[in-house]
Amino acid sequence: MASNSSETTHSFFADVCKYFDNAARHLDLPEGLKNQIKECNSVYSMKFPVRIGEGIEVIEAYRVEHSHHRLPTKGGIRYAMSVNQDEVMALASLMTYKCAIVNVPFGGAKGGIKIDPKQYNVDQLERITRRYTTELIKKNFIGPATDVPAPDYGTGEREMSWIMDTYATFANGQIDAMGCVTGKPVSNGGINGRREATGLGVYYGIREACNYAEDMQKLGLTPGFKGKRCVIQGLGNVGYHTAKFFHEGGAKIIALAEYEGAIYNEDGLDYEAVFQHRKATGSILNFPGATNLASSNDALELDCDILIPAALENQIHAENADRIKAKIIGEAANGPVTAEAEEILDKKGIMIIPDIYLNAGGVTVSYFEWLKNLSHVRFGRLGKRFEEKMNNEILSAIESQIGKPFTESQRKSIARGADEVDFVYSGLEETMIEAYAEVRDTYMEFPGINMRTAAFIVAIRKIAVSYGSMGIFP
Ligand code: GLU
Repeated sequence: MASNSSETTHSFFADVCKYFDNAARHLDLPEGLKNQIKECNSVYSMKFPVRIGEGIEVIEAYRVEHSHHRLPTKGGIRYAMSVNQDEVMALASLMTYKCAIVNVPFGGAKGGIKIDPKQYNVDQLERITRRYTTELIKKNFIGPATDVPAPDYGTGEREMSWIMDTYATFANGQIDAMGCVTGKPVSNGGINGRREATGLGVYYGIREACNYAEDMQKLGLTPGFKGKRCVIQGLGNVGYHTAKFFHEGGAKIIALAEYEGAIYNEDGLDYEAVFQHRKATGSILNFPGATNLASSNDALELDCDILIPAALENQIHAENADRIKAKIIGEAANGPVTAEAEEILDKKGIMIIPDIYLNAGGVTVSYFEWLKNLSHVRFGRLGKRFEEKMNNEILSAIESQIGKPFTESQRKSIARGADEVDFVYSGLEETMIEAYAEVRDTYMEFPGINMRTAAFIVAIRKIAVSYGSMGIFP
């Protein structure tokens, strides 16, 4: 995504620590315990050789396990040139708080390989991924009970398959080996609904925020999600699926941004047509009927109800924060708003729905996938037909009472037994709604704090309690 001048000096991990401190000062916990929660437990920095073309390339990579208060640790692996230790530490910490907020019983972790995946062919990417996995195995930084990677920026199902295959080769005979990584293809141990999970979670979270009438009135917005004017930055997995569910939920997507530029149409953009246009032409620009904006950053500054940064961190910073006109910022990416920017946005009365809550849909469904792998059975396999049979019997009993048959399509939709994807969607919806209520209650409990501080308080409280169960009592 777009670069900015504060990129080189800005410490993402320092920002996360600042957010943590802002929250922790409201809590009566021993300083030592606060520090233990905040620090990264294990930081593994590695350099390994990979044969690329005729030569050898030395690859720089990381895996950080932020918190062992719950095991396994969990978090994605990103492939990007921006990867460095500070970034991976920050992202690993966010994973800890994220898991706590949505009651996923994992500690946080993150991995990164400093490469631009577009510069390598599939063979080379496979070699890099398998070698990275071997490095993780050597140091016990991967395994269904220790640390479970997942996709992140620049990685997807293909990479997760390579990771699983490499791990399984070394863990011959380990019955739960498949649970060493999530975000796998459904055909290879994955779960239906994982691909769209983060975007779907963003939708559930924002819809929930919009349902609180008094909060919307304070922002000068009408209650409810339908008709909201939205801007989305990033058309990767998260941005694309956010756009899809926003569209289906009745929002109007007035602008879409990618690193090459942005497009705008007050009447709304057809996200799927834009996606196809970009695929065909290599650029989001020149989409029929839309106005080109010179840079991705311009889209962030548009007047809109909801702004969704769904790309990388550090997009809204001290230099552009003052020009943001959105009423709500929904952090679909990790860390898109810097701590400095947040102070400016708070003063402007903009509501920020924080990453550690809003993009937790991915790890929530990863948790479901891990459960599926450990139980070795697809959700719904045992009960689906039974449920369908019982529902049909109920319908027949009702028919004989009312003396009128249901239509074939009514019967089909009412009697249907739940599939795996139904369970995943329903589990995710429940998770996001419950967690929003908890964060909002905490926001109300401490006057003057913002939603991010509230989310951190929710997380810190839960983690502190779990340290109690380890014998370290607050
Ligand atoms: N990379 C995603 C995140 O930042 C998903 C992590 C996971 O599924 O473990 O939340």
